[in-house]
Amino acid sequence: MTSTSTSGTAPTTGTAAAVEVEQVTRRYGRGDQAVTALGPVDLRIDTGEFLVLVGASGCGKSTLLRLIAGFEEPSTGRVTVAGAAPEPGRGAGLVFQQPRLLPWRTVGSNVDLALRYAGLAASERVARRDALLHRVGLDGIAHRRIWEISGGQQQRVAIARALAVDSQLLLLDEPFAALDALTRERLQEDLRQVSAETHRTSVFVTHSVDEAVFLGSRVIVLSKRPGQIALDLPVDLPRTGATPDEIRALPAYATARSTVAHAVRAAAA
Ligand code: ADP
Ligand code: MG
Repeated sequence: MTSTSTSGTAPTTGTAAAVEVEQVTRRYGRGDQAVTALGPVDLRIDTGEFLVLVGASGCGKSTLLRLIAGFEEPSTGRVTVAGAAPEPGRGAGLVFQQPRLLPWRTVGSNVDLALRYAGLAASERVARRDALLHRVGLDGIAHRRIWEISGGQQQRVAIARALAVDSQLLLLDEPFAALDALTRERLQEDLRQVSAETHRTSVFVTHSVDEAVFLGSRVIVLSKRPGQIALDLPVDLPRTGATPDEIRALPAYATARSTVAHAVRAAAA
C-alpha cells in the first residue's frame, strides 16, 4: 500500500495520539451564573485503547465526550483527534443511552444511511451492512423495522451504525444504562469482543464500576464537578481468548474493581 492510498483502513497518523486533551476546561453560562463543568483535564489516548470514564452524575463525563466529538469547544485548552481539530459528526462513531434510530425504517436502512454518509458506493454497501450486522449479532433481521425489535437489539443497531462511520474512534455515552441486567451483560461481552476485533479506539462513559473494569483497558475516574482526573488506571486483563466468566474470576479483576470503587467513593465525597 502506498502513502497516497485512500482506502482509509490503515492508520496514517504517525505519532499523533488518537485523542489529545490538553489543559481543557469547559464553562457554561456567564458572570454570576457561570459554572465550570470540567477541568482542567490533560489526557492522551493512544490508538486501540478502550478508555472508560467513570464518575458521579454531573461530574462532566458527557461534556468531555462532546468536546472530543467536536460538538462543543473547550473554554480553555485544546482537543485534537488524530492530530487535528475534531470534525463534528464525522470524526467518530457515536452511541448514546437512547439508540436514536429512525424507527419507521428498517434495521438495514438505518445502517445503510451511515454507510452512505461515510461515502461508500451502493455496490459495496449491502455486503458491508450485512458484515456489520453480523458483527453485532444481528444476522437475518436487516428487513425488520426498528419499532419491531427489542431495546437491546436497537442498541446493537446503534453500535453497528457507529462502526459504519469511517473513523478509528468510537464514543459511547452510557449506551447500556437503559437496558435490563441480562441484556446489558450480553452487550458488554459483545462490545468487548467487537472492540478487540476492530482495533478501534473507544471512549466509553458509565457510572458502573463493574462495567468499567470489565470493558476498559484503562479506567479514568473523574472527581465531582468540575471534573478532574482522580484516577488513571491501566486494566491488565486479557482482551481475547478468555470467557467473560474467566475474566471476572481473575484476581486482577477484583483488584482493579476495588481500586476503582474506592476512587469513585473518594471522588464523590
Ligand atoms: P455527566 O455526564 O457526568 O453526568 P455533564 O457533562 O452532563 O455530566 O454535566 C456536567 C455539569 O455541567 C453539570 O453540572 C451540568 O448541569 C452542566 N452542564 C452540562 N451541559 C450544560 C449546558 N449546556 N448548559 C449549562 N450547564 C451545563
Ligand atoms: Mg452524562
